[in-house]
Amino acid sequence: MTTQSRELFPYVPITEFLSVDIPENSLILCDIDDTVLYQEYVRQVCQMGIHTVYIVSRAVDPTGFSDMLARIEASNSVLMFLTARGSSSHNTTKGNLSYVGIDPQRYAIHYTGSLISKGEYIDRFIDITPYNHVIFIDDQIGNLETVHHFVPANKLKQYLCTARHTILPYYKPLV
Ligand SMILES: [Mg+2]
Repeated sequence: MTTQSRELFPYVPITEFLSVDIPENSLILCDIDDTVLYQEYVRQVCQMGIHTVYIVSRAVDPTGFSDMLARIEASNSVLMFLTARGSSSHNTTKGNLSYVGIDPQRYAIHYTGSLISKGEYIDRFIDITPYNHVIFIDDQIGNLETVHHFVPANKLKQYLCTARHTILPYYKPLV
């Protein structure tokens, strides 16, 4: 078994969406979990001492995100969500987005289902040719790396969200 060294590629680490530059006619591909929202476990204890734990979605940076939405509209750009969730979570995902104030009817949501990398998904299923720029926003550096392999460098700008980053096992794409 051989180990490959990781390739260096450009990206900008961010903690807020105000730092995302949106040039004219861009396609913004944005992750959902730990990028625009995160799940919080809330524990409720009733008088009988019974604990109920439930999960609620929280926005990572609501003011920064709505500012970015306004800039996307002003620059004739398009936002799509690209998540590793499965497509069977569509109703849940729409509910999570609504809960944090994002209208899920206005934006396409793409699901890789963790079956292929995000880079490969873009290559196979998203037509980037009408756009001057592809802006990719995600909290997993492994996802940024796969996108780096599939989108031409002169068209691509990548942002790594570090505000709610959770460490997942590093994923090496088969390319
Ligand atoms: Mg994520």
